[in-house]
Amino acid sequence: MGPLSTIEKLGILADAAKYDASCASSGTAKKNSLGGKGIGSTEGMGICHAYAPDGRCISLLKILLTNHCIFDCHYCINRKSSNVRRARFTPQEVADLTISFYKRNYIEGLFLSSGIIKSSNFTMEQMVEAARILREECDFRGYIHLKTIPEADPELVHQAGLYADRVSINVELPTRKGLTRLAPDKDASQIEGAMGKVKSDIIEAKDAKKRFKHAPRFAPAGQSTQMIIGADAASDSDIVGRASKLYGGFGLRRVYYSAFSPIPDASAVLPLKRPPLIREHRLYQSDWLMRFYGYQVRDVQQAMGKDGNLPLDIDPKLAWALKFRSVFPLDVNRAPREQLLRVPGLGVTAVNRIIAARRHRTLRLDEVGKLTVSIAKVRPFICAADWRPTALTDRADLRKMLAPKQEQLELFAA
Ligand code: SF4
Repeated sequence: MGPLSTIEKLGILADAAKYDASCASSGTAKKNSLGGKGIGSTEGMGICHAYAPDGRCISLLKILLTNHCIFDCHYCINRKSSNVRRARFTPQEVADLTISFYKRNYIEGLFLSSGIIKSSNFTMEQMVEAARILREECDFRGYIHLKTIPEADPELVHQAGLYADRVSINVELPTRKGLTRLAPDKDASQIEGAMGKVKSDIIEAKDAKKRFKHAPRFAPAGQSTQMIIGADAASDSDIVGRASKLYGGFGLRRVYYSAFSPIPDASAVLPLKRPPLIREHRLYQSDWLMRFYGYQVRDVQQAMGKDGNLPLDIDPKLAWALKFRSVFPLDVNRAPREQLLRVPGLGVTAVNRIIAARRHRTLRLDEVGKLTVSIAKVRPFICAADWRPTALTDRADLRKMLAPKQEQLELFAA
């Protein structure tokens, strides 16, 4: 077989990158327009979306430098024992593709990850070189996210941060035990050591920037990580516990959760079925509660069942409220902001609006309804000028009343 064309390599290396959740959107139905039927696709890979630090949604070319790998992580389609078609870009090809996609206005940045060729240092050098060509030779000012290799020389990871807006290092699995079993070539201490070094480099660069106008920037969009869910026996309690420590210990911007998906020729140590996608969604919801709603990891764990897992039929905020009904109802005209954020159905925006509105008038239930998406979900947990839920908060069938209908759940999980 002759050498692969750029488009063939792109097909292989964009497809191989789809397993990385660090900037993926999920949870939608699979649709495509292959064979000339309709327009558009929800299955395509190669371009994904991420959010810039200022909140803008940006499109990224999402590829691997190569899907060759000398490691043998059981859950990974690119592991050395996997029987997949392999390809490899040169750093120049990555830069050329990024620029040509950028000039056509298809993308605003690059997400680059890689399998490990020859050695961790050699691979990291190649990734850094791609970013260097883009920044120094092409004067590319768009967004770059580099997935860095924890086993590589810290100086190379540092260079990656000088060119990239965001760097990420995957912790891969929620527990050390899971990592040892499923990714035998990886070392949890090395991964955390590399994350700690990135954290201190970010802090130092911010500090230097305050003192020297021309100090180099280092990963201004911070660092993130990814955990694979459902490939080992870790419970949701283990997962949120680990995520909380990662946020606290390494100042991460995001922890991404990626539901393990069975791969062709899968290793016998892996489960045969993927976990329901809704589990990944519930973990993202609990992550959101910890980052924006003032929940401690203990609160999220209290919402779980005896098996240490989040319920799948209702969201974790509602699960917590149903377990701690004595906290409710809360008076929307008096309760402090942090308590209102515990009311199921009230998001941060709705709470801010309620607080702004109640400065001028005493709110009635219909006025609260205008500020929320679903007053039915909110009613059992609040009091307003003309509303008291009386026995509603304590009804034995409240969970059944508020749980989404089964059809909706299936549609969502598709
Ligand atoms: S090192 Fe990365 S690419 Fe290689 S097998 Fe492990 S997860 Fe896959």
